[in-house]
Amino acid sequence: MAHCNENFLNLQGAYLFAKVKEKQEAYKAIHKDANIISLGIGDVTQPLAPVVIEAMTKAVKEMGQVETFHGYGPEEGYAFLREAIAKNDFQARGCAISPDEIFVSDGAKCDIGNIQEIFGLHDTVAVTDPVYPVYVDSQVMAGRSGRFVDGAFQKLEYLPCYEECGFKANLPVHDPLIIYLCSPNNPTGVALNRKDLTTWVKYAKQTGSIILFDAAYEAFITENDIPHSIYEIDGAKEVAMEFRSYSKTAGFTGVRCGYVVIPKELQLETEKGEKVSARELWYRRQCTKFNGCSYIVQRGAEAVYSEIGKKQIQDILEIYKENARIILEAVESVNLPAFGGKNSPYIWMAVPKGMSSWEFFDFLLENAEVICTPGSGFGPCGEGFVRLTSFNTPENTKIAVERLKKAIAGLER
Ligand SMILES: *Cc1c(COP(=O)(O)O)cnc(C)c1O
Repeated sequence: MAHCNENFLNLQGAYLFAKVKEKQEAYKAIHKDANIISLGIGDVTQPLAPVVIEAMTKAVKEMGQVETFHGYGPEEGYAFLREAIAKNDFQARGCAISPDEIFVSDGAKCDIGNIQEIFGLHDTVAVTDPVYPVYVDSQVMAGRSGRFVDGAFQKLEYLPCYEECGFKANLPVHDPLIIYLCSPNNPTGVALNRKDLTTWVKYAKQTGSIILFDAAYEAFITENDIPHSIYEIDGAKEVAMEFRSYSKTAGFTGVRCGYVVIPKELQLETEKGEKVSARELWYRRQCTKFNGCSYIVQRGAEAVYSEIGKKQIQDILEIYKENARIILEAVESVNLPAFGGKNSPYIWMAVPKGMSSWEFFDFLLENAEVICTPGSGFGPCGEGFVRLTSFNTPENTKIAVERLKKAIAGLER
């Protein structure tokens, strides 16, 4: 009999969203006329921008004509899209990234999950706590995590993020070789500023570690001091890869498109100490295991960078940003500490004293019919917090925050 990859048996159950759903269903079974509003939605809800639809429709028609039909495309993505990315996402911000350092894919999750294949199997890994679970689970599958004992993987270095430090991680103490950073962060909504990122880049240079920088929420940044790309920091090209996605930026969660930047300067080492280009390894990997993102989708992504596209995308993002502002304002009005919401669709809210994340989840469901996501589900340091998201409609968001304020006011009496 063939054997299973035992690494998979180390995976911890993805119980967080399953448990949220289960509790929601149980509540609905008892309260038949319940009007539950979810501030737990982790997906966009607004439809695609009209320019994207137009571009994709045109591309579909091209596929129906022999003269303009497209078969297999370049594994790294079409030049028209990589050029638009380099120009708009990087060069416009003073980052010297060229199209041949960009690899287009069918989404950032795949890239983030797959990138670990080009690293040595014994390389050590650091993740923040709380954390986006893909970073951890993809390393568990690869066998770099060690066993799960007492709530933690033995070989991972967890970088605890505490309220006192604004939910920003301190530098590691064990000099891990691979470091995942997510800014603006999912789940905490906290964004790293120029000074923070400079510290990380300097650290990586000193220790020879590589930063895997997840910038999926870059489009939600509003404050000037928050870099949109890690390459805004001097020297980052030697130590960092950056992951981007059209999912949250342009509502592509169901369309699927993202990219990773691997600069030419980024090198890995062989056991003998020879230097190898990370970009070349990834190119080889993609050519072997990936046949490119669809032409139609890439034309849709390209349209996001047109003048009208930029405007339409901003109008959609404005809806989420305004929701985030309303939620943050509501949480602050009931005097509970909150993070995020300013450069992020996520608000990370402290639960009232004496409650756990799950107890507050139950309280909010029963007293406000509002769904949140318990912070403890993202790691032990998330205990005592919940994540609220701005992806619901403006109408529902307004109703939900009024209910939330009323429920918490009732608690204090
Ligand atoms: C949504 C999200 C992504 C993007 O995933 P896609 O596969 O591009 O849809 C990446 N990182 C984080 C932290 C996310 O929340």
